Amino acid sequence: MANHQWYITSRGWTWAYEGGQAQRVPTLTNHAKGLGQTRTACGLDCSPWTKFWHLPYRPGVVGQSCPECDAKVSADGTRTALHHS
Ligand SMILES: [Zn+2]
Repeated sequence: MANHQWYITSRGWTWAYEGGQAQRVPTLTNHAKGLGQTRTACGLDCSPWTKFWHLPYRPGVVGQSCPECDAKVSADGTRTALHHS
């Protein structure tokens, strides 16, 4: 398991219905944010942005994810796997 969970944060959101339930979903570029951090993985100040704690950040969602966050989150996963401590 990764010791570090990334969540989606975005400047915009809307309601979407999934499985009959209304959920907030991001409408603009998805950035990755770690718990307790005030900046995205790519270094932007995301404190005023909407946090999507129910949506884990997954790299490689083309057209929605920030390329820099993708790279950081991918590298983080690799590092965690390599050290495995
Ligand atoms: Zn980003």
